[in-house]
Parts: sequence; structure tokens; C-alpha cells
Amino acid sequence: MSRFRNVPQGPPIEVFALNKAFLDDPYEPKVNLGAGAYRDEKGQPWVLPVVRKTERLMAQDDFLNHEYLPVLGLDTFSSAATALLLGEDSHVFSKGLAFGVQVLSGTGALRMAAEFLSKQLKYNTFYVSDPTWENHNLVFTNAGFKDARKYRYWDPKTRGIDFEGMIEDLKSAPEDSVIILHACAHNPTGCDPTQEQWKKIAEVMEERKLFPMFDSAYQGFASGDIEKDAWAVRYFVDKGFELLCAQSFAKNFGLYNERVGNLTFVANCKEVAVAVKSQVTLSVRGMYSNPPNHGARIVATILNNPGLFQEWKDCIKIMSRRIHSMRKELRDRLEKLGTPGSWEHITSQIGMFSYTGLNAKQSEHMIECFHVYMLKSGRINMCGLNPENVDYVAKAIYDTIN
Ligand code: PLP
Repeated sequence: MSRFRNVPQGPPIEVFALNKAFLDDPYEPKVNLGAGAYRDEKGQPWVLPVVRKTERLMAQDDFLNHEYLPVLGLDTFSSAATALLLGEDSHVFSKGLAFGVQVLSGTGALRMAAEFLSKQLKYNTFYVSDPTWENHNLVFTNAGFKDARKYRYWDPKTRGIDFEGMIEDLKSAPEDSVIILHACAHNPTGCDPTQEQWKKIAEVMEERKLFPMFDSAYQGFASGDIEKDAWAVRYFVDKGFELLCAQSFAKNFGLYNERVGNLTFVANCKEVAVAVKSQVTLSVRGMYSNPPNHGARIVATILNNPGLFQEWKDCIKIMSRRIHSMRKELRDRLEKLGTPGSWEHITSQIGMFSYTGLNAKQSEHMIECFHVYMLKSGRINMCGLNPENVDYVAKAIYDTIN
């Protein structure tokens, strides 16, 4: 008899199950709009040319070895990543109030943040947007948070943000609640607050003494401009908030399986920042000891070299422009077909994902009848579209709705 016999079967993780179902599906044509990764116009993964070039340089470097990295990772990486987020000339950075920690991609950054907030600050309540990237809940509850709550975000009627609802929910949140905020390119809705709305969010959070936990998984990838995509985080820092921000380099560098992430801490006192860093060091040491090298070294090399940095910014523009053009193409086709309803939200939403407005039944119909794989929530990855399949997908949406 097994010791493990009472372990219950866990539920499948939708996005991975969907991807497997797509790969196993022999039908053609089929389209994968489920997975959260960039695809080029041929539907293939894209290794950024600047990443390839950097890897070649690294392969020829006889001084690189496979020694352990420090517990908090490569300093050249975490400093450059933090500067990318806060801006080169950020006063908190130069005064020693902010520091970065190299962690295991965006998810690892969130986990370390949740671990720190739960164990060190004893925070117990966290809020996510309704809806959010589904893993926020698992990460925060696994790290010890007992009280998971939602703030209103998506308004199905306007297919935009329910801003009044959001503010009302933040106003009634208990003090010290951790509020998870998507820095840009909200996943899954593709709807970001305007700068005026961010100002109001900050005002309410200050008034209610709420803690900002930014999640920045798409810097540069959203608008094509790294400064613009960091605006909200920088605004909160300028307003004097202490905060954490999880950064992922999976999407904007195309380094999904290298698990390159940074967790930025911003405190309002240098001595406090030093103590915080010492506790994070112990936390990492007790979890995985130290992070891997390869991906972080690629990012550090690119961010610290002006020529490569420019090449990377050009790559980001290529990706964000392609997404933008697919949004336009899809909307044009849906409108030309006379698909019922408004499709304006497809082009006004930003980033990789679009919340189409299709309900769970319609999304399942898209999979079963047209082999167009998408999440039950109606979320599609715009990168899964390309000039060859956009007509097919638009027609599938048209037929599903009619
Ligand atoms: N946060 C958001 C909002 C995301 O969409 C993702 C990935 O899809 C992540 C965090 C984490 O990504 P990763 O752990 O691959 O860096």
C-alpha cells in the first residue's frame, strides 16, 4: 500500500493542457491562440537576433565558467534590470533605496515577493484584479497568504476597465493589503489604466495604506517603448511608495525557458534596504540557494552594452508592431464579415493578449468545431495570428457568434 495513497489528483493547468491538446490534434488547419509566447508571422518561435549574437559571443569567451553565482545572482544583471525598470537616473537607485535580486523569471519573482511579504511583514491579504493571470492566486497562497480577494477590473459591457468598481474595492480594502497591479499590458484583458487613472489608484492606495506589488512581465513588449511601459511603476516610486516589482524577461527577450527574472525592492530608508536584502538572501538560500547563469548573463550583456541594447530595442519594436498589426487585421476582418457586436476593443487593447468577449461556451465551440485553441475566458494570444490564419480565425469567430 502506498504512503502516497491519500494524495488527491490535482486539476490540470488550463494553459498547459490546452497546449498539449493542440499539439495532439491531427486536424488541419488548427490554430493555437492559447499559449502565452511570441510567434513570428510564420507561426514559429522567434530567437531574437541580438540574443543569438550574444550567445555566440558567450560561447567564444574562454573566461566564462560554470561556477555558482552569488545567492542573489549576477550583480551586473540585477542592477541593469532595476535601472531598466526605474530609469537610469532614478533617485531611489542612486541613494541606495532600491535594489534588485535575480530570481527565477517573473513567477519566481512573485513567489519571492510573496514569501517576503508573508514571512517578514506578516501580511495576509492580497488582492488581484478580476480577472488576472491565474497563477497569481497559487503563488500567493502557496507562500502563506490566507486571505485572497479580488478587485473589480473588467467590465463585459464596455469591454474595458470597470474603473469605478476598482476604486470602490480598493477603498474598502483593509490596511496593509497587498495589491497586485499589472505594470502594463494587463493579462488577460489587454486593458491598462490611463495615466490619470493610475494617479487616482495611487491616491486611494496611499490613503488606505495599501501595499503596491507590481507585476511587470511585458516591459517594452506592450507599447514598443520601455520607458512608456514603466510609467506606472515610476510614478508610484516618485510618489514615495515603498513597493516591490516582479520583472520577467521571458517575453521581451524571448527567453521563456531560461527563467530570467528580477525582483526590485524600493524602500524609503537605506538601512532598512540593507536589512531587507539580508533576509531575502536567507530566503533564497533556503529555497534554491542561487539562480542559474545563462539567461541572466545574456540579458546583462545586452543591457550593459549600448550597441546591443539598441538592437534589443529594435527587436522589441518588431514584436510589438507585429502584434499591433494583427489586432488591426483581425478587427478589419470581423467588421467586414459583419460579425455582430463592436470589435473596437481588439485594437484598443494592448500587449499580447486580447479578451475577445467570447464566453466559455463560445470559446469551447471555437476549439471543438474550428480547432482554434483559446482559453475558456475568451482570451486569445494575438501572436498566434499571422497573415495565413487570420481569415480563418475571423470566420471561425463569425460562425461561432452567429
Ligand atoms: N505575470 C504575468 C502577468 C504573466 O502574464 C506572466 C507570464 O505569462 C508572468 C507573470 C510570469 O512569467 P514567467 O514566469 O514566465 O516569467
